[in-house]
Amino acid sequence: MKVDFQKFPDGLVPAIIQDHQTQKVLMLGYMNQDALNQTESTGKVTFYSRSKQRLWTKGEESGNFLELKSMSVDCDNDTLLIKVHPVGPTCHTGADTCWSERNHQEDFLFYLEDIIDLRKQASPDTSYVSKLMSRGINKIAQKVGEEAVELVIEAKDDNDNLFLNEAADLMFHYLLLLNAKGFSLQDVIDVLKDRHSK
Ligand code: AMP
Ligand code: ZN
Ligand code: ZN
Ligand code: ZN
Repeated sequence: MKVDFQKFPDGLVPAIIQDHQTQKVLMLGYMNQDALNQTESTGKVTFYSRSKQRLWTKGEESGNFLELKSMSVDCDNDTLLIKVHPVGPTCHTGADTCWSERNHQEDFLFYLEDIIDLRKQASPDTSYVSKLMSRGINKIAQKVGEEAVELVIEAKDDNDNLFLNEAADLMFHYLLLLNAKGFSLQDVIDVLKDRHSK
């Protein structure tokens, strides 16, 4: 791979960071030759930080490293595309990408997952999520079972409104259960994708 570091006077090229599984664009950083060498030798993405004016391994403080999966250079050798496995959220705000707001609108269920995660920490007096979460896995699982039964009952009727509302209840509590078990929708999608590819 030939990278034209001399193209710009500061010797830096942009590096687009993409999740190798979800294909989401996670962040953008800059690299010089040293940053590239270190990324290749350690397997953890290292940038040259223009604000810190030094090499910066993403995750060095937070532990949210970007594990290198593959690297390629664009048509005129001046921009890198780096595919990674992100360990934890990539953005320092705690969001999985630095463009979360836009992604959230596009993927409402993932947005809802983040809200659930936030509401967990709220007071059980003001938050239904927090209250249910504090009652433990068995209670949440039982609630999923109840909502599933309610959905089955409504499936036999032909009231579209009630059916859709029960479907939404089930999905919401399903997300709660996944979260309580320490998983996310993406983990389930990964299992489905894996089955699909066989
Ligand atoms: P980290 O490299 O994750 O340990 O974060 C160290 C510091 O780098 C943070 O306090 C932020 O100032 C900055 N930082 C972390 N992640 C990002 C990001 N995705 N984009 C820009 N700056 C970041
Ligand atoms: Zn280019
Ligand atoms: Zn960010
Ligand atoms: Zn219901």
